[in-house]
Amino acid sequence: MDHFLYRNGILHAEDVPLLDIAAQVGTPFYVYSTATLLRHYTLFDEALEGTDHLVCYAMKAASNLAILKTLAEAGAGMDVVSEGEYRRARAAGVPGDRIVFSGVGKTAQEMRTALDGGIRQFNVESEPEMRMLSAVASEMGKTAPITIRINPDVDAKTHAKIATGKSENKFGIPISRAREVYGLAAYLPGLEVVGIDVHIGSQLTELAPFEAAYTKVAELTETLRADGHDIRRLDLGGGLGIPYTRSNEAPPLPMDYGALIKRTVGHLGCEIEIEPGRLIAGNAGIMVTGVIYVKSGEDRTFLIVDGAMNDLIRPAMYEAHHDIVPVVEPAPGLEPAVYDIVGPVCESGDTFARHRTMPPVSDGDLIAFRSAGAYGAVMASEYNTRALIPEVLVNGDQFAVIRRRPTFDEMLNRDTFPPWL
Ligand SMILES: *Cc1c(COP(=O)(O)O)cnc(C)c1O
Repeated sequence: MDHFLYRNGILHAEDVPLLDIAAQVGTPFYVYSTATLLRHYTLFDEALEGTDHLVCYAMKAASNLAILKTLAEAGAGMDVVSEGEYRRARAAGVPGDRIVFSGVGKTAQEMRTALDGGIRQFNVESEPEMRMLSAVASEMGKTAPITIRINPDVDAKTHAKIATGKSENKFGIPISRAREVYGLAAYLPGLEVVGIDVHIGSQLTELAPFEAAYTKVAELTETLRADGHDIRRLDLGGGLGIPYTRSNEAPPLPMDYGALIKRTVGHLGCEIEIEPGRLIAGNAGIMVTGVIYVKSGEDRTFLIVDGAMNDLIRPAMYEAHHDIVPVVEPAPGLEPAVYDIVGPVCESGDTFARHRTMPPVSDGDLIAFRSAGAYGAVMASEYNTRALIPEVLVNGDQFAVIRRRPTFDEMLNRDTFPPWL
C-alpha cells in the first residue's frame, strides 16, 4: 500500500499532483510520501507490540536527513554502516543510544566517532574487528557494547548480490565458531557483550529463511547463556521484501514477520531489534522522469527518458523490475504500446525495461518508476557528469525539496587542476 494514486487523471503523491512538483523542480526527481514512510514504520512497531523492541531503520536504503527525521520523530532507531551514516543519523536528531553500527569494515576512526558521540551497540563481524574495537575503546577509556553478527548458513533465496547469510558470504562469523568468538569477546578489555546479531539478506519474499535463522539464534542464545554470557538483546536484521509488481503474489506482511519473531525467540526474554530498510522506504518513493524522445528502431520502439542508470541503478545492477506508469492517466480503452525504456547514458546497461507493455506516451510526457524509494537515490552517481537528481518530500498537501539539484558549477568546482597544468 502506498500513497501514489491517480486523482482527476493525474498521478499524485498524497495530495500533491506530480505535475506541480515537476513544474517546480524539473525532471528527473525522486519524491517520497511521509504517510507511507510512517505507515511502514508503524506496521513493524505494532508487529512487535508486547515485546521490548526497537525498530532500527536501515538507513542505507534512503538516507536523506528529512526522511531520517520523519522516522526518528516517530520513535525509530537507526542502523548505520558508515561514519557518514552515523553523522547523518545524529544530524537528524537521533540519539546515540538509538543507533546500531553494522558493517564488515568499520575503521578505527569510525569506531572513535561512534564511541565519542554515543552508540547503542556495534554489531561486530570478525575477530580482527573485535580486537580493533577493544583497542580503540580501551584507549578512550570507554566500554563498547557489542553483539556479534553470526552467519547462520541459511539460504535467503534472494538475488545473489543481496544474499548475506550463506557460509560463502563475507558477513559475520560462522555459527559453528560462535562460542569460541564470544569467549574471546568476554576476555578482551573495553567490550561488553550485550547480544547476538543476524541479517541474512534483502528482498526476502518468504518467511522460511527467517524462521530457520531465528531458530538457530534462539538455540545459540541458550548455549551462550550456559557459557556465562549475558545475552539480553537480539538484533534480527532486516530483509523483508516488498511487492515490486502490483500483480505478483504479496510478500509476507510485517504482522506475520512479527508473529514469527515472537514464536521463535519470544520465550528468551530478550530485547528485540529489527533493521528494516527496503520495506520502510521502497514503496514510499518513486522516480519521475520525462520522455525525451520516442525513437522507432528496427523491431522495437525506444522510450528515451531523462532519468538514467546513474539515477536509479537497480535494473542494471540487480535485473530489478520497477512498475512504470504515465503521470497523466491514459484515456480508457487506449491500445497499449510496447517499449524498451532506456536512459541517455552511453551503456547498453542503461535500460530500465525491455518489451514493457504500457499506455502509449509521447515526447515531453512524464512517467513514474514505482517502488524506487529504497536503494534509489542513495545509489545514484554523477556518471556521464549528470547531476544528482533532486529529492522531494510530500506531507499531505505540502511538498518540499529535501535535496536540491546541484549546479554544474558546483559539480565542476570539486575538481582541481594540479600545479603543472
Ligand atoms: C542492508 C541491511 C539491512 C536492511 O535490509 P533491507 O532489505 O533493506 O530491509 C539491515 N541490516 C543490515 C546489516 C544490512 O546490511
